[in-house]
Amino acid sequence: MIADNPSAASAARGPATSYPALHMIIDGEKIPVGHRRTHTVLNPATGGVLGHLPLADAADLDRALEAAARGFRIWRDAPPQQRAAVLSGAARLALERQEHIARIATLEEGKTLAEARIEVMMVVNLFNFYAGECQRLYGRQLARPPGMRSSVIYEPVGPVAAFAPWNFPIGNPGRKLGAPVAAGCSVILKAAEEAPGSALAVLQCLLDAGLPKEAGQAVFGVPDEVSRRLLASPVIRKLSFTGSTVVGKHLMKLAADDCKRTTMELGGHGAVLIFDDVDVERVLNAMTASKFRNAGQVCVSPTRFIVKQEVFAQFRDGFAQRARTLRVGNGLEESSQMGPMANPRRPDAMDRLIGGAARAGAQLHTGGHRIGTQGYYYAPTVLSEIPLDARIMNEEPFGPVALINPYATEEEMIAEANRLPFGLSAFAWTNDAARQRRLTREVETGMLGLNTTMIAGADAPFGGVKWSGHGHEDGPEGLLACLILKTVHEG
Ligand code: NAD
Repeated sequence: MIADNPSAASAARGPATSYPALHMIIDGEKIPVGHRRTHTVLNPATGGVLGHLPLADAADLDRALEAAARGFRIWRDAPPQQRAAVLSGAARLALERQEHIARIATLEEGKTLAEARIEVMMVVNLFNFYAGECQRLYGRQLARPPGMRSSVIYEPVGPVAAFAPWNFPIGNPGRKLGAPVAAGCSVILKAAEEAPGSALAVLQCLLDAGLPKEAGQAVFGVPDEVSRRLLASPVIRKLSFTGSTVVGKHLMKLAADDCKRTTMELGGHGAVLIFDDVDVERVLNAMTASKFRNAGQVCVSPTRFIVKQEVFAQFRDGFAQRARTLRVGNGLEESSQMGPMANPRRPDAMDRLIGGAARAGAQLHTGGHRIGTQGYYYAPTVLSEIPLDARIMNEEPFGPVALINPYATEEEMIAEANRLPFGLSAFAWTNDAARQRRLTREVETGMLGLNTTMIAGADAPFGGVKWSGHGHEDGPEGLLACLILKTVHEG
């Protein structure tokens, strides 16, 4: 583990790499900074400046809206085979450009190169899946007497305003673009200003594969200004958002004013139920890898470890021991197992939440502090016996911290899993088949991992319940979310 100044050490040893010039893509034109306001993009491994991003003004957004309206009319009429060719072509290009795109993501978000490469593959798989899926939209014929006909047909919902956050700078834009493009919608993507280069690279794959320039655009800006202007426009027929619950609720209200459709992928506070009939060391290996992926900045991250008291001490000590030996460093170095946090807000939030828990009486076993003086590194942290009213037990920590508490009964464990208003991911480890069925029924969650941490895939609907949002991305359901039904009755 790099102890005192990971970024300086990595900067000296790390491979040379270049960060692209930044722009918006409106109606096929690459819009540079020019006279516009800018956002300074930082490298979270060093705190150094990577580039300057132009921020849209009202005229830019209106131009994008006008192009999206045109793009929708062009793209909705494209045959499914053409959409499929664009998606599979983009998947091929993303694969060819994997290393280039992954490096941009690591530079601007901090995650390890290994994680960024996997993220590119997530987009490759999703685009390939939707290339097939968009050719299987059949609709339905209703049974009617001779001479009458009633059909249910699918149509694309219309231009989509899609807002993608910084934590999966490749995968989130891939999700926001893939399903609408498959459905025949146009998209205005506003990816996070903090990680714009990866989003631009993903969109460029689609444009280079033949997506009409009006059908896929990328704007950046002051988030509140952009979302208000786009969602106020009748051109936009659907809002797709991934981010915090608080921003999601705000955007849903804006969308409601024009009755726009919504897909909302919001926050979580992943519960992990660990029973005493499992191989604890195997569970520890799986859960520590999952917990510290992307420095814990993952909406489905396992967060609240709800452990049967018989295996609590072994689990807590094993987690802390593994967390202590994790190699934290610049994501560009192949030896790093965890990179820095993505922006300076995250270490601040960690200090606040972990400090608050410790003051409330929680036991701190390892971590609980920043690493180094440059960049946004935070030590993998393990807390136990945390009072339930501590903020960290109620707010999504979105960081490298495991919260481990002991419980006496299955009923208490399920009650704790369901205590919060979130319901995105949950995990359970038990070999008891009857208990697995009870948990499947009782745990309030959009996605449940039973004896696994793998809860996403191109063919699997991804989404939450309660305050974690509604609607799905990925899978056939992600495509359906970009379609509307029309029922046609013929006499
Ligand atoms: P934030 O909530 O302000 O921003 C989250 C994302 O929403 C960013 O990408 C941001 O650009 C966007 N956003 C914010 N206000 C917006 C608006 N008015 N219109 C459109 N987009 C808007 O704050 P943050 O510091 O970036 O993240 C804070 C919390 O958000 C995290 O702790 C985490 O709980 C949550 N988050 C969740 C996800 C996820 O995958 N569900 C991703 C990123 C952040």
